[in-house]
Amino acid sequence: MAREIGPKCRKCRADQTKLFLKGERCHTSKCPINKKSGKPGKEPRARSKKMTDYGIQLREKQKLKRTYCMLEKQFKLTFVEADRQEGKTGENLIVLLERRLDNMVFRLHFGSSRDQAKQLVSHGHILVNGKRVTIPSYRVKVGDEIKVVAGSQKMVVIKESLKEYSKSGVPAWLNLDPDAMAGKVLAFPRRSEVTEMANINEQLIVELYSR
Ligand code: SF4
Repeated sequence: MAREIGPKCRKCRADQTKLFLKGERCHTSKCPINKKSGKPGKEPRARSKKMTDYGIQLREKQKLKRTYCMLEKQFKLTFVEADRQEGKTGENLIVLLERRLDNMVFRLHFGSSRDQAKQLVSHGHILVNGKRVTIPSYRVKVGDEIKVVAGSQKMVVIKESLKEYSKSGVPAWLNLDPDAMAGKVLAFPRRSEVTEMANINEQLIVELYSR
């Protein structure tokens, strides 16, 4: 499973925004982005340098790509697919990203971060409609049931992660039975419902790939 590695909080600081790479920790006071500002290793004078339009568009793309823990090739392919669909390309892109199985596993609190959810999928701990699926980019459909494999339900990382359900619940487009460790896709999210991505201007990404 190819994935971007490196210190997660450093990526947020480089992009000067919260990318939510550490799951629930990102919503607590432990998040260092609230305490530190600017790119790692840069002096304040360098930070104030005006960015070009290209730089701004590129940074927006990096933010979204890193949030969903994706590599460039896979992200670009998703964009191409979003562009082929009817409607606004940027909004289509975010909905397609939300439909990834690893994202759904994260949203259902089986994994505490998208990165951990990706590993749970690729290591064979997740069933979709009763069948084991090991492809993190697998795209779920409305009505799909996503469940933790019976033999994996005692895993501490999953149990610990599920504790967050009582605090934050699941998005309106999902349903979760925490005791059965099973969730269902009720609908696809609308762009406005993906509030975690409120800091993303997806139109800048469309402009970047349209160059
Ligand atoms: Fe670290 Fe999460 Fe805060 Fe990013 S949002 S700096 S990953 S705690």
